[in-house]
Amino acid sequence: MKRLFYNRKMNLSTLLTVLVSASVILTLLILTFSSYHSNKESLVNTYLSLNYSKSEKMSHSVDSLFSSMRTSLENAAAFLEKNEQLNDKEIFEQLELLRSSSGYFNSLSWVDENGVVRAISPISIGLTGQKLTAGITKDVLDSKKPGVTAPYVGPSNRLIVLMNQPLYRKDGSYRGMIGGTIYLQEKNVLNQILGNDAVEKNGSYYFVIGPEGTRLFHPDSRLIGESALENSMVQKLTQGQSGMELVTNTKGIPMLAAYSYIPEIGWGIVQQTPYSYVQNMLKIQLQDLLMHVWLPFLLLLLFSIFIARKLAAPFIGLADLVNHLAQGKEVSLPLREALMKPHWNREADLLTKTVAIAIETLEKNNRQLTQNAITDSLTGLPNRRKMDEVLTDWSIENRLFSLVILDIDHFKSINDTYGHQTGDETLKKLADTVQKIVRKNDHCFRYGGEEFVLLLPDTDIAGASQVAEKIRGQVENIALIPDRNVTVSLGISEFPLHSNSLTELFKIADKALYQSKSAGRNRVTAASA
Ligand code: GH3
Ligand code: MG
Ligand code: MG
Repeated sequence: MKRLFYNRKMNLSTLLTVLVSASVILTLLILTFSSYHSNKESLVNTYLSLNYSKSEKMSHSVDSLFSSMRTSLENAAAFLEKNEQLNDKEIFEQLELLRSSSGYFNSLSWVDENGVVRAISPISIGLTGQKLTAGITKDVLDSKKPGVTAPYVGPSNRLIVLMNQPLYRKDGSYRGMIGGTIYLQEKNVLNQILGNDAVEKNGSYYFVIGPEGTRLFHPDSRLIGESALENSMVQKLTQGQSGMELVTNTKGIPMLAAYSYIPEIGWGIVQQTPYSYVQNMLKIQLQDLLMHVWLPFLLLLLFSIFIARKLAAPFIGLADLVNHLAQGKEVSLPLREALMKPHWNREADLLTKTVAIAIETLEKNNRQLTQNAITDSLTGLPNRRKMDEVLTDWSIENRLFSLVILDIDHFKSINDTYGHQTGDETLKKLADTVQKIVRKNDHCFRYGGEEFVLLLPDTDIAGASQVAEKIRGQVENIALIPDRNVTVSLGISEFPLHSNSLTELFKIADKALYQSKSAGRNRVTAASA
């Protein structure tokens, strides 16, 4: 359970990598998002203003067009009032001249006060002589006032707008009106002035709204004459307002629209651009932005991950090392060397150096402790524990060796006579003497009390006897204690000649030693085969 929990913990390098990646990616997202937003706002504003200035310009054009149309009708009426003597044919010629020279009207007519069409240009309309009894044309005639109508279906069965100018005789009596019409659904002065290309490449288009919200001009000619009052923007236009806003048109398409009211005639111009066009531009800008920034950001990301990993590496190394130590494993040299490398990060450098020093101290103490555990403090010889180790190794290898047990004769009496301190001194001197005599490969141990053990590798009992004899002789000759003859007795056995068992081998050597003692001490006894 604990182990499982440990496994689920995140590695420092992964953690840093995740953090760094997250912040780089987040920065990119914020950059993209904010750029998208500011671009969107500026594009929307640009297109709204652009459309507004276009609609303003158009409304001025239409306004001045209508003033010119009005002036031309007024001039024609003034001319007819001045020349009352002109007959119908002559008046027709005047109307013909006015229509073709100005190009304002699709048709021009003179209707007398009784509603009879006295002259109409072009003649092809064929209404000459007919009498109007009812309808909007008749109402306009009876109003005896100048005006412009809303679109309606005129006597020639066309959707028209009629501009009229009343006509009076010199005596002041009403003589009818001069009427000029615009055929809304055909080629007319409006589309000549405003332009025929109602729909631009980017989907922008304009339309003209008349009184009561009827469409006077629209790129979709089927809509001309229809009411557009359901459009909130058109409602505002009919209330005499101008402005710009994001609206949804009658087909449900969002549009950046601007509308401009023409006070003189109560009409309005709407100029609009599909919102999707701006969205498309935004998309392209965004793609462009991403195209330019993805590489630098990727490089930044990789560089940041690289730095994060470099930063984390010494800490991960330390964690591994400490984990290693905790499991009681040895610290390998490459790992130690990697740890000792100086690091550019101050904390990592300090920590690695400190840990390296701590490990070294720990190991030194360990070595000292181990050494202490296998060393006899009085003589400095390895003790019985070390001897057991060596014996075990050799018996496993089945190596030939001789075991020599050495015991000081009458040591108790030395202690008794000269005191323990001299006894200890004697033990030390003896250890030194023996060590000087034996070969480098031979092992000398303090077995306990005043007993020593020699392990002589690759030495048979005969060879061991010679060594033992040499020791015995030297000890006897050098006075370990002045004025006192110190001697030693020795017993020898051979492995595996005498036994394969270490315990048995010891017993045999011990027996040989006992024989030396009983035979009068100061002698060497080799166990018999
Ligand atoms: P033998 O010739 O039969 O070996 O006689 P011995 O007196 O040497 O025999 P014994 O084994 O009876 O006595 C050993 C003595 O060695 C007993 C003990 O007081 C003494 N001894 C053991 N270890 C030490 C030590 O570290 N220092 C000193 N000073 N004396 C020790
Ligand atoms: Mg003894
Ligand atoms: Mg003794």
